[in-house]
Amino acid sequence: MVVAFDHGGGVRAVRVPIPDNPLGYTLVYVVDTDRGPVLVDTGWDDPGSWDTLAAGLAACGTAVGEVYGVVVTHHHPDHHGLSARVREASGAWVTLHAADAAIVRRTRETRPEQWWSYMAAKLTAAGAPEEHVAPLRTPRAGNLPGLSPAPPDREIVHGELLDLPGRRLRAIWTPGHTPGHVCLHLEEQHPGGLPGDGRLFSGDHLLPGISPHIGLYEDPDDATVTDPLGDYLDSLERIGRLTPAEVLPAHQHPFTDAPGRVRALLDHHQGRLAGLLALLAEPLTPWRLAERMEWNRPWADLPYGSRTIAVSEAESHLRRLVKLGRAEPVPGSDPVAYAAV
Ligand SMILES: [Zn+2]
Ligand SMILES: [Zn+2]
Repeated sequence: MVVAFDHGGGVRAVRVPIPDNPLGYTLVYVVDTDRGPVLVDTGWDDPGSWDTLAAGLAACGTAVGEVYGVVVTHHHPDHHGLSARVREASGAWVTLHAADAAIVRRTRETRPEQWWSYMAAKLTAAGAPEEHVAPLRTPRAGNLPGLSPAPPDREIVHGELLDLPGRRLRAIWTPGHTPGHVCLHLEEQHPGGLPGDGRLFSGDHLLPGISPHIGLYEDPDDATVTDPLGDYLDSLERIGRLTPAEVLPAHQHPFTDAPGRVRALLDHHQGRLAGLLALLAEPLTPWRLAERMEWNRPWADLPYGSRTIAVSEAESHLRRLVKLGRAEPVPGSDPVAYAAV
């Protein structure tokens, strides 16, 4: 089985499987430097995924113990999951953007019960029916995946050149999918001579065939009213202006024409916001709105976890519409319903 793909110019990819997930795998990029390979993301923390990562590095002519550093695009467990194991095996540094590093620290301090009650309160406020909230009130055994993520050794600063001796890899902060998501711009000529400015490791920010999940930033202690969809749309424009010759995303496959993909995603969200405004002719809670939105299958067939994610996505769109002055909460409604202005 081929486990490493050569993208030329000292960049290879290893497909690290994500167990029981339709996305299938995370593309972990292996970037050669003068001090040893640097990984962009590490993959899900699972024994099989670890074995695949190790086999992939061997196929690249190196080994986990040789890794010099780990740059993580964002804190999600399919990206940051194996960072601690790589660090243990190699002594590599691990770096994340400060906003996602803060989530990692907070997650490590949060007990599972606290997390469940936070989710229950949040869903109740969004108008979720009792049968959806009830399972969160019954404590369950075991930890949530990703509830003990590795604290980073360094924090990524927007615009900086990262510590990749002999390479030029610049961090571009692209909040939206998470508050500290970063894309990484390899400011070197494309090895195949494709026109454009270098290559972009896009994480989950820009994927060729799917629109990444944009929900509310999960934060049990912070009451700041954030606008993740607004952040995401701004970050898309930031990336569109970079005009990279090729995009190396964390899922699916590499692609060209980043500006075209950015336009398609901007149009997708414009269309979606317009569709939601039409639905908000009658006042709707986030839950009721999510029930009426279009998903990859009918609402009745959406599994439990996907419904929770869908409501968060509805909330981030409502946040945007409120911020744009196109929708408003209905005074006195409880749970709060929103209507178009
Ligand atoms: Zn993600
Ligand atoms: Zn991902």
